[in-house]
Amino acid sequence: MDILRLPALDDNYIFLLFDPESRTAAVVDPAVPEPVLDALAERNATLVAIFNTHHHGDHVGANLKLREKYPDLAIYASDVDRDRIPGQTVELREGDRVSFAGNDAQVLFVPGHTRGHIAYYFPPHGDRMTGDLFCGDTLFAGGCGRLFEGTPAQMLESLSKLRSLPDDTRVWCAHEYTESNLRFALTVDGKNRDLSERW
Ligand SMILES: [Zn+2]
Repeated sequence: MDILRLPALDDNYIFLLFDPESRTAAVVDPAVPEPVLDALAERNATLVAIFNTHHHGDHVGANLKLREKYPDLAIYASDVDRDRIPGQTVELREGDRVSFAGNDAQVLFVPGHTRGHIAYYFPPHGDRMTGDLFCGDTLFAGGCGRLFEGTPAQMLESLSKLRSLPDDTRVWCAHEYTESNLRFALTVDGKNRDLSERW
Protein backbone atom coordinates (compact mmCIF):
# COMPACT_ATOMS: atom_id res chain seq x y z
CA MET A 1 0.00 0.00 0.00
CA ASP A 2 1.44 3.35 -1.02
CA ILE A 3 0.48 6.50 0.85
CA LEU A 4 0.29 9.77 -1.05
CA ARG A 5 -0.11 13.17 0.54
CA LEU A 6 -2.23 15.56 -1.50
CA PRO A 7 -2.22 19.22 -0.38
CA ALA A 8 -5.63 20.91 -0.59
CA LEU A 9 -7.28 24.21 0.33
CA ASP A 10 -5.00 26.48 2.40
CA ASP A 11 -3.30 23.95 4.63
CA ASN A 12 -5.20 20.63 4.44
CA TYR A 13 -3.64 17.31 3.57
CA ILE A 14 -5.70 14.58 1.93
CA PHE A 15 -4.17 11.09 2.07
CA LEU A 16 -4.58 8.62 -0.72
CA LEU A 17 -3.90 4.94 0.00
CA PHE A 18 -3.09 3.15 -3.21
CA ASP A 19 -2.62 -0.54 -3.88
CA PRO A 20 -0.66 -0.89 -7.15
CA GLU A 21 -1.53 -4.57 -7.49
CA SER A 22 -5.31 -4.24 -7.52
CA ARG A 23 -5.22 -0.61 -8.71
CA THR A 24 -7.65 0.28 -5.96
CA ALA A 25 -7.45 3.28 -3.66
CA ALA A 26 -8.93 4.65 -0.47
CA VAL A 27 -8.85 8.23 0.69
CA VAL A 28 -8.63 9.77 4.15
CA ASP A 29 -10.55 13.01 4.73
CA PRO A 30 -11.14 14.25 1.16
CA ALA A 31 -11.62 18.00 1.54
CA VAL A 32 -12.14 18.61 -2.17
CA PRO A 33 -12.54 16.17 -5.06
CA GLU A 34 -10.10 17.51 -7.69
CA PRO A 35 -6.72 16.37 -6.32
CA VAL A 36 -8.20 12.97 -5.47
CA LEU A 37 -9.71 12.49 -8.92
CA ASP A 38 -6.46 13.63 -10.55
CA ALA A 39 -4.37 11.22 -8.49
CA LEU A 40 -6.77 8.37 -9.26
CA ALA A 41 -6.74 9.13 -12.98
CA GLU A 42 -2.93 9.28 -13.06
CA ARG A 43 -2.81 5.79 -11.58
CA ASN A 44 -5.79 4.39 -13.41
CA ALA A 45 -7.16 3.49 -9.97
CA THR A 46 -10.64 2.86 -8.62
CA LEU A 47 -11.70 4.43 -5.34
CA VAL A 48 -13.24 1.86 -2.99
CA ALA A 49 -13.35 3.61 0.38
CA ILE A 50 -13.38 6.94 2.18
CA PHE A 51 -12.10 7.04 5.75
CA ASN A 52 -13.40 10.14 7.52
CA THR A 53 -11.96 11.16 10.90
CA HIS A 54 -14.63 13.75 11.75
CA HIS A 55 -17.47 15.78 10.28
CA HIS A 56 -15.83 19.15 9.53
CA GLY A 57 -16.36 20.38 5.98
CA ASP A 58 -12.65 20.43 5.16
CA HIS A 59 -12.54 16.68 5.86
CA VAL A 60 -15.76 15.44 4.26
CA GLY A 61 -16.27 18.07 1.55
CA ALA A 62 -15.71 15.69 -1.37
CA ASN A 63 -17.63 12.66 -0.04
CA LEU A 64 -20.70 13.06 -2.23
CA LYS A 65 -18.82 14.11 -5.36
CA LEU A 66 -16.59 11.06 -5.09
CA ARG A 67 -19.60 8.82 -4.48
CA GLU A 68 -21.18 10.15 -7.68
CA LYS A 69 -18.23 8.82 -9.62
CA TYR A 70 -17.78 5.65 -7.51
CA PRO A 71 -21.31 4.73 -6.33
CA ASP A 72 -20.18 1.52 -4.60
CA LEU A 73 -17.59 3.04 -2.32
CA ALA A 74 -17.77 2.56 1.43
CA ILE A 75 -17.77 5.72 3.53
CA TYR A 76 -16.49 5.10 7.07
CA ALA A 77 -16.87 7.41 10.07
CA SER A 78 -17.75 7.37 13.77
CA ASP A 79 -21.18 6.20 14.92
CA VAL A 80 -21.30 9.40 16.99
CA ASP A 81 -21.14 11.37 13.73
CA ARG A 82 -24.05 9.62 12.05
CA ASP A 83 -26.25 12.29 10.45
CA ARG A 84 -23.37 14.66 9.92
CA ILE A 85 -21.10 12.71 7.56
CA PRO A 86 -22.33 13.06 3.95
CA GLY A 87 -23.02 9.63 2.46
CA GLN A 88 -21.77 7.63 5.45
CA THR A 89 -22.28 3.89 4.95
CA VAL A 90 -20.42 2.38 7.92
CA GLU A 91 -20.53 3.46 11.57
CA LEU A 92 -17.38 2.80 13.56
CA ARG A 93 -16.58 2.49 17.25
CA GLU A 94 -13.41 2.16 19.33
CA GLY A 95 -11.75 -1.19 18.65
CA ASP A 96 -13.44 -1.79 15.30
CA ARG A 97 -11.28 -2.85 12.39
CA VAL A 98 -11.39 -1.62 8.84
CA SER A 99 -9.47 -2.98 5.94
CA PHE A 100 -8.02 -1.77 2.66
CA ALA A 101 -6.17 -3.99 0.17
CA GLY A 102 -5.21 -6.51 2.82
CA ASN A 103 -4.12 -3.85 5.33
CA ASP A 104 -6.15 -3.84 8.54
CA ALA A 105 -6.55 -0.69 10.60
CA GLN A 106 -7.67 -0.26 14.18
CA VAL A 107 -10.23 2.41 14.92
CA LEU A 108 -9.35 4.64 17.87
CA PHE A 109 -12.02 6.86 19.42
CA VAL A 110 -10.27 10.18 20.09
CA PRO A 111 -12.82 12.87 21.03
CA GLY A 112 -11.70 16.39 21.91
CA HIS A 113 -11.53 18.36 18.67
CA THR A 114 -15.07 17.11 18.03
CA ARG A 115 -17.21 14.71 20.05
CA GLY A 116 -17.12 11.96 17.40
CA HIS A 117 -13.51 12.15 16.23
CA ILE A 118 -11.81 8.86 15.34
CA ALA A 119 -8.33 7.93 14.13
CA TYR A 120 -7.18 5.02 11.99
CA TYR A 121 -4.03 3.09 12.89
CA PHE A 122 -2.54 0.69 10.34
CA PRO A 123 0.08 -1.53 12.05
CA PRO A 124 3.17 -2.48 10.01
CA HIS A 125 2.30 -4.84 7.18
CA GLY A 126 4.06 -6.12 4.07
CA ASP A 127 6.52 -3.49 2.80
CA ARG A 128 5.33 -0.92 5.36
CA MET A 129 7.91 -1.42 8.10
CA THR A 130 6.28 1.04 10.52
CA GLY A 131 2.69 1.69 11.49
CA ASP A 132 0.73 4.55 9.97
CA LEU A 133 -1.65 6.73 11.93
CA PHE A 134 -4.27 8.95 10.35
CA CYS A 135 -5.26 11.20 13.21
CA GLY A 136 -7.29 13.94 11.50
CA ASP A 137 -7.37 17.09 13.61
CA THR A 138 -6.38 15.47 16.91
CA LEU A 139 -2.60 15.63 16.71
CA PHE A 140 -0.29 17.87 14.67
CA ALA A 141 3.44 18.42 14.55
CA GLY A 142 3.97 20.63 17.61
CA GLY A 143 0.39 20.78 18.83
CA CYS A 144 -3.08 19.32 19.06
CA GLY A 145 -6.40 20.23 17.48
CA ARG A 146 -8.65 22.97 18.79
CA LEU A 147 -11.26 21.88 21.33
CA PHE A 148 -14.51 22.61 19.54
CA GLU A 149 -16.76 20.02 21.17
CA GLY A 150 -14.62 18.22 23.76
CA THR A 151 -13.00 18.95 27.10
CA PRO A 152 -9.28 19.25 27.85
CA ALA A 153 -9.54 16.00 29.84
CA GLN A 154 -10.98 14.18 26.84
CA MET A 155 -8.27 15.53 24.56
CA LEU A 156 -5.59 14.49 27.04
CA GLU A 157 -6.99 10.97 27.12
CA SER A 158 -7.16 10.87 23.33
CA LEU A 159 -3.57 12.06 23.00
CA SER A 160 -2.43 9.48 25.56
CA LYS A 161 -4.05 6.80 23.45
CA LEU A 162 -2.11 7.97 20.40
CA ARG A 163 1.05 8.18 22.49
CA SER A 164 0.78 4.53 23.41
CA LEU A 165 1.35 3.54 19.76
CA PRO A 166 4.90 2.44 18.81
CA ASP A 167 7.45 5.30 18.73
CA ASP A 168 8.28 4.82 15.06
CA THR A 169 4.66 5.22 13.95
CA ARG A 170 4.30 7.59 11.03
CA VAL A 171 1.77 10.26 11.97
CA TRP A 172 -0.18 11.68 9.05
CA CYS A 173 -1.64 14.98 10.31
CA ALA A 174 -4.48 16.58 8.40
CA HIS A 175 -3.15 20.14 8.37
CA GLU A 176 0.20 21.86 7.91
CA TYR A 177 0.41 23.77 11.21
CA THR A 178 3.97 22.87 12.15
CA GLU A 179 5.56 26.31 11.97
CA SER A 180 2.81 28.21 13.79
CA ASN A 181 2.49 25.47 16.43
CA LEU A 182 6.22 25.52 17.18
CA ARG A 183 6.29 29.30 17.29
CA PHE A 184 3.46 29.29 19.82
CA ALA A 185 4.92 26.40 21.84
CA LEU A 186 8.19 28.31 22.25
CA THR A 187 6.30 31.23 23.84
CA VAL A 188 4.98 28.94 26.61
CA ASP A 189 7.78 26.37 26.91
CA GLY A 190 10.85 28.26 25.74
CA LYS A 191 13.35 26.10 27.65
CA ASN A 192 12.19 22.86 26.08
CA ARG A 193 15.22 21.47 24.27
CA ASP A 194 13.27 19.18 21.91
CA LEU A 195 11.28 22.18 20.86
CA SER A 196 14.29 24.38 20.13
CA GLU A 197 15.94 21.57 18.19
CA ARG A 198 12.86 21.09 16.05
CA TRP A 199 12.57 24.84 15.46
ZN1 LIG B 1 -11.64 19.76 12.15
